[in-house]
Parts: sequence; C-alpha cells; structure tokens
Amino acid sequence: MKKLSRRSIIKTATLAPVIMGTGLLTSGVVSGVSANQKGQNTMGKTKPTNEALIVIDVQNDFCPGGSLAVSQGDQIVPLINDRMGDFSTIILTQDWHPAGHSSFASSHEGKAAFEMVEMPYGDQVLWPDHCVQGSTGAEFHKDLQTDPANLIVRKGSNPNIDSYSAFFENDRTTPTGLKGYLDSLGLTKLSLVGLATDYCVRYSAVDAARLGYEVEVDLAACRAIDLDGSLKAALDEMQAHGVRLIS
Ligand SMILES: [Zn+2]
Repeated sequence: MKKLSRRSIIKTATLAPVIMGTGLLTSGVVSGVSANQKGQNTMGKTKPTNEALIVIDVQNDFCPGGSLAVSQGDQIVPLINDRMGDFSTIILTQDWHPAGHSSFASSHEGKAAFEMVEMPYGDQVLWPDHCVQGSTGAEFHKDLQTDPANLIVRKGSNPNIDSYSAFFENDRTTPTGLKGYLDSLGLTKLSLVGLATDYCVRYSAVDAARLGYEVEVDLAACRAIDLDGSLKAALDEMQAHGVRLIS
C-alpha cells in the first residue's frame, strides 16, 4: 500500500476549509495552522494575531466581463494581494448560488434585472444571473491569490434567501458560521476589502460591527455598483455603525 508522505499529509491538513451559508461546516477539518502559530510574514515582521483580512466576493462575475460586473472590479486584485502580507489570517468569501436562485431576475416572471421586489425577509434587488455554483463566473478572479487563505466562506446557497453579508443571510439572522470561526481563533479586528462596496462589503462590515468586532474597510481595495445612490448610503451606514473607512 502506498504511504502518504509527510509533505502530502501536511498539505492535506492545511487546505482551507469551506463554510457554506447554512451555518454548517462542510469539512470537519479546520486548517491545522492557526493564526497564533503563524504570527510572522515572510519579511520577518510580526503580524498581529487578533486581526483578519476578509476578502469579499472577488469573483469573475463581479469583474469586467462578468454577468454582474462592477466597474474596475479587477483593479483591486493587486492591492488585495499586497495586503495579504500584513495578516496571519485571511478569509475569502464566495457568492455561491444554485441555478434559479430567488435573487435572479430570471426567476421572477415579468421582472427585469435591478428591479426591486418584496421578499418575506424584506426588499430584494433582482440581479442578473451570477455566481452560479461551479460556473466560471463563480470562480475567484484568476489573479487573486487564494493559496494564503485560511478559510473560504460560501454564501447565498439557500435558494430562497440572498446573502450579501459574510455573517448572515439577508434575513439578518441565519448565520454563515463565520462568527464561530473568528471567535474560536480570538480574532477581534477585521479589515474588509472586495466587491461590492455598497452591497456585500457594506452588509458584512455593518454586521461585523454589530457583532462587536473592530472593523475597517479599505476603500482603495473596494469598488461599488452604486445603484440609485447606494454607495453614499453604504458609506453613511458603515460610519454610523463605527466602521473605520480608510483609503
Ligand atoms: Zn449573489
């Protein structure tokens, strides 16, 4: 029988686990290298062990050429890659919808993309089909560094509820499981970057602040959709919740 080499065992143990938006860990294996064990970067500079970088939805469908492209969405990728060097814990989120998701305009007869509808959990913008599970559009941008990620959080898998936030589905109560991960590692300070400033970054930042984390959003490494003044509303709301906006 072929034996696993030590190298392959280590590689298996350090694969980033994936949390689905159902609040359940789909993998029983959480990365074998904790933030506290990894406290140094390649330059030898000590990295704070209570801080995490959360990279929101840097996926093909949200970048130029994608089905829900955010203007200049791809331009933030080099900045995000650079910032990864400052953190010992890096978390990526991935919008991850089943085909026919209820947030898609195509699932509502007579409705067009960007119209608003009332859902049981509140107002919902209808989007073009995007980030369908397993599609090219749902993949991370090809230049985004994914190897340093400790965790990938997938959200929006429930066919009936959208999920902008990395913490909760849009009913604002069903958890993704991210809080448990952060708390178990003693991560208290979160820096958010990604797409789009006025939707998934905004909801994630506001939820993080409401949960008691110290939160900053690096606007230079974000881009917005800006639908009917949504960018200004997002900046106002984040500031009102004590989120530090930097650029
Ligand atoms: Zn989505």
